[in-house]
Amino acid sequence: MTSTLDVAIIGGGAAGIAAARHLTERKRSVLVIEALPRLGGRAFTRQINGLPLDMGCGWLHSAERNPLAALADTLGHPLDRRESAWSKQLGNIAFPPDEQRAAWTAFEALKDRLRETPPPSDRASDALPASDRWRPFADGLSSFMNGAELDQLSAEDFLAYEDSASEANWRLPDGYGAFIADLGANVPVSLSTHVRSVSSDKDMALETDQGVIRASAVIVAVSTAVLARNGIRFSPARDDHLEAASRLPLGVADKVFLAMNDPDAVPPESHLLGRTDRSETGSYYLRPLGRPVIECFLGGAWARDLERQGPNAATAFAIEELTHLLGGDFARGLSPLTTTRWATEPTIGGSYSHAVPGHHAARAVLSRPVSERFCFAGEACSAHDFSTAHGAWQSGIDAARHIDTYLAGAHA
Ligand SMILES: Cc1cc2nc3c(=O)[nH]c(=O)nc-3n(C[C@H](O)[C@H](O)[C@H](O)COP(=O)(O)OP(=O)(O)OC[C@H]3O[C@@H](n4cnc5c(N)ncnc54)[C@H](O)[C@@H]3O)c2cc1C
Repeated sequence: MTSTLDVAIIGGGAAGIAAARHLTERKRSVLVIEALPRLGGRAFTRQINGLPLDMGCGWLHSAERNPLAALADTLGHPLDRRESAWSKQLGNIAFPPDEQRAAWTAFEALKDRLRETPPPSDRASDALPASDRWRPFADGLSSFMNGAELDQLSAEDFLAYEDSASEANWRLPDGYGAFIADLGANVPVSLSTHVRSVSSDKDMALETDQGVIRASAVIVAVSTAVLARNGIRFSPARDDHLEAASRLPLGVADKVFLAMNDPDAVPPESHLLGRTDRSETGSYYLRPLGRPVIECFLGGAWARDLERQGPNAATAFAIEELTHLLGGDFARGLSPLTTTRWATEPTIGGSYSHAVPGHHAARAVLSRPVSERFCFAGEACSAHDFSTAHGAWQSGIDAARHIDTYLAGAHA
């Protein structure tokens, strides 16, 4: 494969698709080069039992200012604007109301302390002693929200997200992943094509397993896990950017979907947290959008461990916790549909990025253009919408704008 393009975009996730759309709308010739045989990356809807189930992103966070929510609305895609059930406990099962109040108050107090008296270490866990009654609860929440427990987390980074996110979380009943992949339907793409190296001489030359691709400019929109493990070789070396990527590792969040043979056994749009006395637990969304399924969410070190234990470990764990919560008869009516293993996905390597203590600024380093015709993009580049699909989307547009300015000058 040999071609000369305006812009080669490595990675066909939300960031790469956004960049490609922005540039093609401005008549630039682009090619998205994607290692997987599909577009979307961590945005991935699978049709299972006739239901569009999101394996990765499912919620349009900060929905009223989310550019993908606005785009979905403009394009006529139905949006579900119902409030999420995350912080509710169906029937107060295994979590009495006074304990719920105490747990949520402790979590809010932790955020206040991080804001008002941030730990000098910038390690979020230093604001909540390990012996605190609600530390496992807070670690569990962090494992779902950040893919990592509090001791892995930069307090500054955590607050950068928290303080800019809104309470509005919407859904696309036809699938967030399907929507994002569809947005890439008309951009030129080379699927199942793995980029091995990028050299930036006069023109950029990308060595792929399908041949060499040449372009005037390049946007690298792959995950920080891929960058940090030198999944793509750069010549000359891009040490500052790769060092920044290594400070923004991907945490792990995985989903297990279970089918219910008696959906009426629980109300639609309800929720259960597995336990509060340990962080190794699941968050169970019962009958999302009224469907006869349970979407189980597992995060952090425990999710990583379950991936290591093998393909059935997370399902077995989720059914065990649901048995404890809702009884054996209920659990016997469940059958496994599918399980994700995002940390094990070779071209992705995890779920979403968090900054390690002391390194929130790494996001600014990673998002800084390498040159007028070379940028990185992806969720980790966002200053405060990192870890999300819309943060990835916006980072792709930012990178495309930068490159377009260069191309406009070069072609003038
Ligand atoms: C379980 C889970 C739940 C989530 N929930 C939400 C949510 O509710 N709301 C939300 O907004 N976000 C959520 N997210 C996060 C969101 O999905 C991601 O932040 C976003 O999709 C990342 O997009 P990206 O373009 O930065 O990266 P990616 O989607 O990782 O895209 C990068 C692409 O690059 C490709 N690639 C890598 N290496 C190469 C190479 N050498 N050559 C060619 N191609 C390569 C990869 O295959 C991949 O397709 C969730 C993620 C997970 C895993």
